[in-house]
Amino acid sequence: MKGKPLLQKIMAWVERFNDYPGCDRKELTVKVQMWVGTAYALLHVLILTPTFLIFAPEALKVLIGYGYFLAIVLITSLFVTPWIKRQIKLTYFIQMIILLMGTLITILHLGGIATSGGLIVVCLALMLCTVPLQDSRISLASFLLFTFIVIISGLFSSFFSAPASLTPKINSILFMINTLSMSGLALFLILSFIAQQRKLEQLEANKLKELNEAKNKLFTNITHEFRTPLTIIQGMTNLIKTNPEEWMEKGTVKIENQTRNLLALVNQMLDLSRLEAGAMPLHSFQSDIISYLKYLSGSFISLAQKKDIQLNFLPENRHFMMDFDQEKIMYIVSNLLSNALKYTPCNGTVELYAGQMKEQNEFVIKVSDNGPGIPPEQLPFIFDRFFRVEEDQVTQEGGTGLGLALVKELVKLLGGSVRVISSVESGTTFIVLLPVTNNAPEKEIIPNEAVPPADLVSVSNQEDVQQSYTGSVIFTGDLPILLVVEDSTDLKLYLKALLEKQYRLEFANNGKTGLQKAFDHIPDIIVSDIMMPVLDGISMLDILKHDIRTSHIPVIMLTAKADMDSRLTGLDKGADDYLAKPFNEEELIIRLRKLIELRHILHDRYAAGEQVLTDNLPENLEDSFIQKIRLVMEENLGDDNFDVHQLSRTLGMSRSQLYRKFKSLTNKSVIDYFWTLRLYKAQNLLQTTVMNVSEVAWAVGFKNLSHFSRAFKDQFGVNPSAIGK
Ligand code: ATP
Ligand code: MG
Repeated sequence: MKGKPLLQKIMAWVERFNDYPGCDRKELTVKVQMWVGTAYALLHVLILTPTFLIFAPEALKVLIGYGYFLAIVLITSLFVTPWIKRQIKLTYFIQMIILLMGTLITILHLGGIATSGGLIVVCLALMLCTVPLQDSRISLASFLLFTFIVIISGLFSSFFSAPASLTPKINSILFMINTLSMSGLALFLILSFIAQQRKLEQLEANKLKELNEAKNKLFTNITHEFRTPLTIIQGMTNLIKTNPEEWMEKGTVKIENQTRNLLALVNQMLDLSRLEAGAMPLHSFQSDIISYLKYLSGSFISLAQKKDIQLNFLPENRHFMMDFDQEKIMYIVSNLLSNALKYTPCNGTVELYAGQMKEQNEFVIKVSDNGPGIPPEQLPFIFDRFFRVEEDQVTQEGGTGLGLALVKELVKLLGGSVRVISSVESGTTFIVLLPVTNNAPEKEIIPNEAVPPADLVSVSNQEDVQQSYTGSVIFTGDLPILLVVEDSTDLKLYLKALLEKQYRLEFANNGKTGLQKAFDHIPDIIVSDIMMPVLDGISMLDILKHDIRTSHIPVIMLTAKADMDSRLTGLDKGADDYLAKPFNEEELIIRLRKLIELRHILHDRYAAGEQVLTDNLPENLEDSFIQKIRLVMEENLGDDNFDVHQLSRTLGMSRSQLYRKFKSLTNKSVIDYFWTLRLYKAQNLLQTTVMNVSEVAWAVGFKNLSHFSRAFKDQFGVNPSAIGK
């Protein structure tokens, strides 16, 4: 009973001795097993060598020398290996080679396998000692070494003679001792290996259990998050039904809020899974991140003022150029700032610090507050989905516990890291580190481009926590891009609320910025006012419709000028539709949808290969654009080095402009289109000329005939040789 705690104590000491900061469990187990094996071997040597020294010093000289050699190697190993942090397996393997070689020399000195007191069993045990290393290459190498020793000591034993003093009797006693002792070592190794396997199985089972629990927790959380708003909606509908006079207005507002909450929740969850699946693309530009952060913190000032919180922006540098994705940075910083402002009580302080880490290629963004802090036992979980600190202060505030999970994933996507320092006395600091690169194209910051959503910069309503959704920001993903050119902030806000779920919105305040945005983003559709400062809507429309980069984009003119004249001018300049203010929401939504659908009809027209080859298309800019592309492509059909770079240079457009315009006209990529064009041209040549298949393949840029035949068959279902002349 007493022995077990002592053994445990010893093992705990061995573990501590071999451990070092950062050593993982598996590595430590290997180190401990090898260390105990070495200690066991040393004990064996320490008992045998003095015994020989006392009872037969002269007769067993060779074995005493061997004992000294083993003792030196084993003691060195016991003291040195615990300090080694890398290449631990290799270290043990080298030790093994030294011991095996020393043993081989001793065996030869003692006259061979049969007369060396069972030293070959020692070699066998040394070979077995490599099992805990769990490295098949090392075990194989040790086995080969062992085989080498057996062969050498067997073949060369006739060149050596056994010392006369090593009588058969002593030899068999030694043989017995060595065999028994080494079997003990093998037994230890086998038992500890089994124990280790059991532990691993247990760990695996625990992991599965944890995973299951996490899944259950997630489901419980999700149902809870859905249930609360649904209950409110249900309650409100009942109230409206029974007492419409009193509840019609109040109730519908609450229902609207709750449906928005639900939608935001679903979007957040989708964003998170898209992030985790790696399906969230990065759109980085090189720009001044300090100005952008200043602008972001500015959007939170009114929220801070309402709570009497002092919000300070503390930049380390005046300007700092680096690559960053505006939208992602906006989500990260806005979520951190909204948390800080949400959880810090009135009269507190919130600081946003930004600057480059000295001598390191990293940019740091810190958001700190002197709020209630996060209890240390809760800190490890705050980046988990749906996790919320269960304190009175916190539960009074609305939220889903997804904000920080999103922050963590986004920072990961940007290649950075995020950590938190928090204490109940001094508040909370979130530190985001981002790698600094300067490879992306330059772009000026355009405020309003990535605006923190209104619900994030609004104050939570303490009386009705459920009603105020102070949750985190949502992404709009790969929806069609809608550019709104409008100078009224209110109308922009209204359009944003109306359309943000169906479109990725871009805003511009006047015709000039509208044009710039249209060229930068090549939106799928534009909604524009007519009367605006700097450049009016009609002039902007005129330029847009005459520029090859933007002529295909449908434009809806939205204006207070309902008179026939301006309507006709707008239509004359190429407006695709016209809506008078005040407009009907449904009507706007339907017209936008219809125009986008019309694009799809155009896709079919341009995307089909045969039509591409007919020349009788009606004359307009779209067609001339496609025709121009076709012309350039046809000129380069035979050039297999021709690529999108060259094409965009020839057309005087940027690659992304070309890509977006081409895609929105044909729903195909330029590369796919070029490929189809080459194959149709080949079909045409085969049908109308006397060229043979390989000549045609060369003419349309295929240097490999079997490639050509396969591609041709994929496209038309027949081999090129089957096309009749
Ligand atoms: P959401 O942001 O999804 O609306 P949330 O704010 O509750 O909800 P997170 O942003 O993920 O969720 O934050 C998780 C939890 O971490 C919060 O519920 C809060 O308990 C704690 N927390 C986050 N930031 C702070 C802070 N600055 N001070 C104190 N506690 C904080
Ligand atoms: Mg939050």
